[in-house]
Amino acid sequence: MSLAGKIALVTGGSRGIGAAIADALGERGASVVATATTPEGAESITERFATRGVEGVGMVLDVRSADAVAALFEAVGERFGAPTILVNNAGITRDNLLLRMKDEEWQEVVDTNLNSVYRLCRHAVRGMARARWGRIVNIGSVVGAMGNVGQSNYAAAKAGLEGFTRALARELGSRNITVNTVAPGFVETDMTAKLPAEQRQALLSRIPLERFGRAEEIAEVVCFLVGDGGAYITGETIHVNGGLYMA
Ligand code: NAP
Repeated sequence: MSLAGKIALVTGGSRGIGAAIADALGERGASVVATATTPEGAESITERFATRGVEGVGMVLDVRSADAVAALFEAVGERFGAPTILVNNAGITRDNLLLRMKDEEWQEVVDTNLNSVYRLCRHAVRGMARARWGRIVNIGSVVGAMGNVGQSNYAAAKAGLEGFTRALARELGSRNITVNTVAPGFVETDMTAKLPAEQRQALLSRIPLERFGRAEEIAEVVCFLVGDGGAYITGETIHVNGGLYMA
């Protein structure tokens, strides 16, 4: 499968799952813009791409800022053209039991994981509609389907993402734009490195494949969805979780 000639935008491409997705899209021939929240992070993405022979750059983006999103699309448009592959990957957790949750913890998680996707998609859809081809992949979470203690903010944002995906898939189908969610289970990244050892062990005992996932295994599914194999899939949530959750 070749993505040569396609322009891909991946939010949160400095680390973890987003970095693996950006690299995999680039290695299949797409020109990739991947974002980080700092100039150093953006620079290290550009260096990583150069080492791997990927055509693309890192750029700075805070997905919580509508102005920053607008400026990013302008910069990407000038340098590469309008992206027709968008992967909304940037995300954070701010875990707390509901009774202890601070308003900021709720708002930051919903703003970074859900409102951001609305902002990015509004810009991206114009270029995709013009091209009469587009692929949007939102990175959800198994927690959006199962819930998780201490993650009511995160679960709400990720479940919201799935509803948004379905609505947008219906709106954009006639333009040959597909919209899907990939919902990872527990994947070895900085996000899960924070989990206490007992919690990791308890989780592992519930995963039929008896291990956490690798970021590259999420990237493969994203590549499938944006490639020819995924052309007739839209409005779906694809779960990638080693069997932790079976719908
Ligand atoms: P991670 O290693 O913590 O990396 C998070 C990425 O998001 C980084 O690139 C970070 O940029 C970026 N980011 C954070 N806040 C941002 C903001 N305000 N604006 C723009 N970018 C921002 O996370 P991960 O584990 O790879 O997770 C990636 C996605 O997968 C998230 O949506 C997460 O919810 C989802 N997910 C992860 C797991 C898992 O087990 N790891 C499971 C299910 C779903 P900087 O490097 O500049 O901070």
